[in-house]
Amino acid sequence: MTYDVIVIGGGSAGATIATRLSEAPERSVLLLEAGPDYPDFDLLPDDLKYGYAPTASEMGAPRNWSFTGIGTPEQGPIAVPRGVDQYGRVRGVEGLRVADASIMPDCLRANTNLTTIMIGERIAAFIDHGC
Ligand SMILES: Cc1cc2nc3c(=O)[nH]c(=O)nc-3n(C[C@H](O)[C@H](O)[C@H](O)COP(=O)(O)OP(=O)(O)OC[C@H]3O[C@@H](n4cnc5c(N)ncnc54)[C@H](O)[C@@H]3O)c2cc1C
Repeated sequence: MTYDVIVIGGGSAGATIATRLSEAPERSVLLLEAGPDYPDFDLLPDDLKYGYAPTASEMGAPRNWSFTGIGTPEQGPIAVPRGVDQYGRVRGVEGLRVADASIMPDCLRANTNLTTIMIGERIAAFIDHGC
């Protein structure tokens, strides 16, 4: 099977991009999210099926990756090389884009989730317009 667009990761940006791009009926979009496959709604675990789970973001919660990161003033600035151009295209790799919080050139003093969703919106629009 072939797809016009494959989105890896159904997080803030990935879910936004997949939603926007699949609005065009002629475009096929595959969204790949890590973790177990629940092929239909009935097989979803109850905490996913029925919405909000207050402990979902706690370390060690069943569907939390439990990754940790650290950033302190003592550490100083950490250079994050940007491998993408202004359209999210990975330099030197045709057809591959990065659209997530990692491409922000600097730390935000704002809501990162909303900003990441907007990255998803913008890059979906770039793909739509052939940029
Ligand atoms: C506990 C917590 C609370 C937060 N609260 C707020 C808040 O109140 N306000 C706010 O603005 N921001 C908040 N954030 C930050 C916000 O969630 C992130 O900035 C935002 O989700 C980043 O979006 P993203 O698309 O870059 O990554 P993510 O949303 O993390 O998406 C990445 C996706 O890729 C998937 N994935 C990873 N590896 C693979 C793989 N190999 N194959 C397929 N899929 C894969 C992951 O499962 C995930 O779904 C919070 C973050 C955490 C952890």
